[in-house]
This record gives sequence, C-alpha cells and structure tokens, in this order.
Amino acid sequence: MEINSTQAEFLRREIKSFPGIGKRKLSVLDSELGIRYVRDLLKHYPFRYEDRTQFYLIKDLREHISSSVQLVGHLHQVQKRWVRTKDSLSAEFSDETGKISLQWWNQINWISKYLKEGRRYLIYGKPNYYKGKISIVHPEMTELKDHASPKGKIYPVYSSTQTMKRVGLSSSGLQKIIQSFLSEIHPEFETLPASLGEKYHFSQHGKALHDIHNPPNIAALNKARERLKFEEVFFMQISLLSLRRVRKENLKAHGLGMNPMVSDFLDKSLPFSLTDAQKRVINEIYSDMKSEQQMHRLLQGDVGSGKTIVAFISLLAAIGLGKQAAMMAPTEILAEQHFEVCSHWAKSLPISLSILTSSVPARERKQRWKEIKEGNIQLIIGTHALLEDNIQFHDLAVVVIDEQHRFGVWQRAKLWKKGKDKHPHVLLMTATPIPRTLSMTLYGDVDISTLDELPAGRPPLYTAHRRESARQKVESFVQTQLEQGHQAYWIYPLIEESESLDLQTIEDGFAAAQTRFPHLKIAMLHGKLPSEEKQDIMRLFIAGEIQLLISTTVIEVGIDNPRATLMIIEHANRFGLAQLHQLRGRVGRGKEKSYCILMTSSPLSEEAQKRIDTLVSHQDGFSISQVDLELRGPGDRLGTQQSGAPELKLVDLVKDQAILIAARQEAMDIIHQDPEIKDPKYQTLKEHVHALTKQAAWKYIA
Ligand code: ADP
Ligand code: MG
Repeated sequence: MEINSTQAEFLRREIKSFPGIGKRKLSVLDSELGIRYVRDLLKHYPFRYEDRTQFYLIKDLREHISSSVQLVGHLHQVQKRWVRTKDSLSAEFSDETGKISLQWWNQINWISKYLKEGRRYLIYGKPNYYKGKISIVHPEMTELKDHASPKGKIYPVYSSTQTMKRVGLSSSGLQKIIQSFLSEIHPEFETLPASLGEKYHFSQHGKALHDIHNPPNIAALNKARERLKFEEVFFMQISLLSLRRVRKENLKAHGLGMNPMVSDFLDKSLPFSLTDAQKRVINEIYSDMKSEQQMHRLLQGDVGSGKTIVAFISLLAAIGLGKQAAMMAPTEILAEQHFEVCSHWAKSLPISLSILTSSVPARERKQRWKEIKEGNIQLIIGTHALLEDNIQFHDLAVVVIDEQHRFGVWQRAKLWKKGKDKHPHVLLMTATPIPRTLSMTLYGDVDISTLDELPAGRPPLYTAHRRESARQKVESFVQTQLEQGHQAYWIYPLIEESESLDLQTIEDGFAAAQTRFPHLKIAMLHGKLPSEEKQDIMRLFIAGEIQLLISTTVIEVGIDNPRATLMIIEHANRFGLAQLHQLRGRVGRGKEKSYCILMTSSPLSEEAQKRIDTLVSHQDGFSISQVDLELRGPGDRLGTQQSGAPELKLVDLVKDQAILIAARQEAMDIIHQDPEIKDPKYQTLKEHVHALTKQAAWKYIA
C-alpha cells in the first residue's frame, strides 16, 4: 500500500533533516536517549500518564486527596509580597463551592504577566492542607473562555534527565516535539501483515502510535499498548530468525565429528561417568558440528552441572582432526583454572595446549601468537587477550565461550571471525539459566541445549540466614568445619563508592579471622592483588594448603574446589539473587555435605528479605532466576542490550508471557513459509525489520 511505504520512509528519516529542532536539542536527544531517527522519537513512549479527565469542586477537596487535581474557577487578588529573602506571589482562586489560595515562589515576574484578576482558569496542582486552609503552589494555569467547558484529557508524561531539562527537553518540551512528528503519522499506517491485524483485532500501527502518545481514554491506551508490545516481540523474532537462517546458509564451517582422539578419551581417560544430560548435550553438539553449517549453540546449565567437560569434549572434535580450538573465559582466574583442568584431562592425549591472558609477559605472548598462527598450539585457553587483532589462527574449527553473557555480541563475534576460510563452530556457555519462553525470545537466533541434571552423589547444600547476633555461633561452626579438614570461603561484598573502603572492609575481616582462628591457614584474595599472587593463592587453596579464603567476589565465576564445603557471605543483602546463587555454587561440589551462611547486619528491605528467603528455600538455578526476574526484570544480566536485537521498550518479559509466545509463533510461521520474506504481502514487514536490525546484528553477518 502506498501510504505504508511513504510512512515507513518517514520513520527512517533522521530528525535533524527536519527544520525546527535546534542543534543542542538534537545532540542531547542523541546522547541521552539515543534518538536520531523519527522512529526512535516516536518510540520514546510516555512512562506514565496523568489522568486529567476528572474535575474537582473545592468543597470536595479533603486531606486524603494528595495527588494533583484539576479545578475550574476565577482568579482574584493577585498580590506580590516580600517573604523572608525574596518576592513571592499569591492569589485567591474560587469556584461556586469555596476558595483556596495559590502561591508562586519562582519566576514570579514572568508568571505575574499571565495572571489576570477576574478571569476564568483551569488549574492543575497538588493541594496542601494547613490549619483548615487549602493552597496550591505553582499550579499549571490555562485560561478559559467564560462559558467554555474544559475538556478532560489523559496527559502523557515522558522521562527526561537533568541534561535534557537544561536544553528545554522536559516532559512537556519532549511532548511538543513528539506531537509535531506524530501529526505526520497517518492512523491507517500499518506495519504488520494484514492477516495478523485481523487475527488479533489490533488497531493499526498509526492509530496505536497516536493512542499511546495521546490516549483518548484508558481502553484505547490499553489496546495500543497491547499491539505495540506484540509488534516489538514479533519484529525482534523475525529478525532473529532471519539472522539464524542467513547464518545457516552463508557461514560455512568444517564438518567435524567423532575421531580416534575423542573415542580414546571417552574410553580410557574420562575422569568420571557422564550424566545422561551431559551425554545428550554432547550428542546435540556433535550432530551440529558434523554439518558444514556453522554451529551456534548456547549451553545452559546451573552452576556445578558440569559444563567444562562438555566443552572439553567438544573441543576435541577439532583437535582430533588436527585443527585448532579455543576457549575464552571472562576472568584470568577462570581461564587459569580451565587451563589446569584441561591440561589434566589432556595428559594422556597428544595435544599441545597453552594459555593466553594479559598477564602473560609481552615477549612470551608474541611467541604464543606465532605458535598459534603456525598451528603448533592446538588448544588455546584465554581471556579477552584472545581477541587481539594480532592473533591469527592456522585452522580454528571450534570456539567455546564460557560465561558468555559477560562478553558483548561484538566480542563473541570477534573471536569466531578468526576462522580463516571457514568459520569455527561456536558453543556459548552460561550458568544463568532462564525460563524457556524467555530464552527462546532473547536467544531466538541460537540453538539451546540444557544441562538439567547435576552429577550424581552431590551432597545436599544447606543455606541459612544468620544475623549479627549469631556471629559467635557462626564462628564456632567455621572452626569445627575447618578442624575436620574442610575448606571455607568467607566473602565480602564490593561497596562500589570507594575502593579503599572495600579494601578496608575485607582487610578488617582478614585481621579478625587471623585473631579468631590463630591455628588456621588463612589467605586473602581481592581484585587489587597482582595477578600472579592471585593465582598463587587460588592454586594453594585448590591444593588444600589454605583452609580459609577471605575473598571478594573475584571468585564468583566458575572456580572449582570440591574440598570447599562452607561459605560465609557477609552483607548478603548487598548482593543480587543470581550473584548469590553463583557464589554459593562454589561449595557443594565434592562428596561432603556443604553449607552456605548468609550474614546480614542491618534491617532488611522487603526485597532483600525475599532474595534471602528464596535462596534459603530454593536450590536450583531455574527457579531462582524466575524469582529474580520477577523481582527486578531481566536487566542487562542477560545481555539484552547486546544481543543485537532491537530493544524491547514496552514488553515485560515476565508478565507478558502470552504475548511472547504468540508473537514468536507467528514469526516462526512466516519464516517457515517464506524464509526470505519475499512475498509482496510482506513487503512492508521486510522493510521494517530490515531497518530495525540494520545497525545491529546484520552488520556482523554481512
Ligand atoms: P559448571 O557447569 O558450573 O562449569 P564444572 O564443569 O566446573 O561445572 O563442574 C563442577 C564439578 O563437577 C567439577 O569438579 C567437575 O569435575 C565435576 N563433574 C562434572 N561432571 C561430572 C560427572 N558427570 N560426574 C561427577 N563429577 C562431575
Ligand atoms: Mg563453569
């Protein structure tokens, strides 16, 4: 349809190509809200509304009415007064039922020009009640013709920052700009395929935009939101599914598979028998890698579910065929540990493996680059250091990225783009499991494998909450545990405002522990230590030479010491739920019963209490992440900002499950019938999705 393409064209234009918005405003819109195109501006939806459909009579104002009200009446006795140190302005305002006073403290010269005694006004403001008198400070005033009846309206309120307000982009400043663009939007402008609009009885895109910015009534607002939510998810899904198709068709990889090295390892050197879940997941990965289409698979598994061995066995698919493999982790300690564990597993295999982190001295690093390039190193394990441009591989065929959400989409792509003529297969791993609808929504472009079973024989892990008053009991418990030969972590939070304060807190903790447990071997670990020292401490702890490790959250990701059976977390209320679950996952990895004690000293907020209770009563990561989502939404923890997909502004990933499911299903049906979205009836859809994703995901594919 003609209007659809001209309107779509309009949405794609930059707002600076229209006259009327000054340079400063344009630059603040861009820097504060990322708004450059008309479509971005029209998607800056109101964050709340003021319902100004009701009018009050002065006689009905009562103390419990504390939010803003609308009154219609006449203005009298405008007076300038000198109060304390400055001028102020007051006036009387009355309707047929009573009178109140109005007051102004700022900008009074300017305001007094607009106040005319004897005229009729519609005013809006918050009533104050004092000794039986009612007043409103700085009301909004609109002059009314004598017999005109005021129209009720639902007013949009837009979010704005200090910087924005300084250049005149307060909520009402924004509203004016948005209105001027909105007036160009035709109510019949439609972006969804006609069949969907009919099926769900949606209002058209144009109408929905008008209604969300200027709702005529609550019902229309809800209908508009419903439709715009659906389309947010729908477009995201179409783009993710297209991305996946483009990837599958265009990105060629080496066909890998079972080889003598893998079978040899599985037969002779496997350190334990794999769980059924591990076997299933390894099969899924191997069947992907057999194909010459690049694998892009996300392995989800709760802490301790045994992802590392799955990664190692996947890497062998490449190494066993004489090709190279790489594994990247977000921290040095974790990379170190992966390196040690893999070296251990690889002992009886003819593999040359090496590690690359930023603490490897420059000369040595260069030597490793050379060996990687020549193919002499077959398995390289490292941190971000693997991403350096200088690193070229001889024949990279599999890449594993552990704790993948710690990396941005560009970083992940940077690693797997290091393949030469073919792309390596990619296995992403995460210990932040999320409910299925959500993972399908956010990771719609990758295949997902789930380790839903912990290795057998894991002992129970008890979690308890203790307050400051129980500190002595906790300390004697630590003592008994350690005297029995177990090891423990004692965790202190980072209190971001001040590094020195953090250090102080943990150093005090360390000193106190040394006094309290003079016979124990105690060490302290935090981010400020030189990395060699950190690694030495970790090594000693893993080797059992250190009994009590006082640490910050540097140990959060992935560290594995099966002999540690006890963890105390200080100020547990300062941690997020997912983070506490990750931390506590460091214990309960061996054969012994384990404990996690959450200490809190201050009174807890309701939310903190809920987090702690959840942790005490739940073991598995899936149910914990469900609660976490309900408490604080997905946030950036899941990398939604970085997934390369268009941002979700309206849809609530927890509450709008039904919309998520419906929109994804519709998107799948369309991609299934018409993978390239070629049918002319999808023309508008195709243009729309393409414009949305052009800047993000498509870029690294093309
Ligand atoms: P995560 O999924 O958190 O990365 P790891 O791979 O570190 O978990 O595994 C946790 C611990 O469980 C390690 O000590 C590992 O050797 C052990 N493990 C993994 N799989 C099994 C299994 N099938 N049987 C027994 N122990 C296992
Ligand atoms: Mg791990």
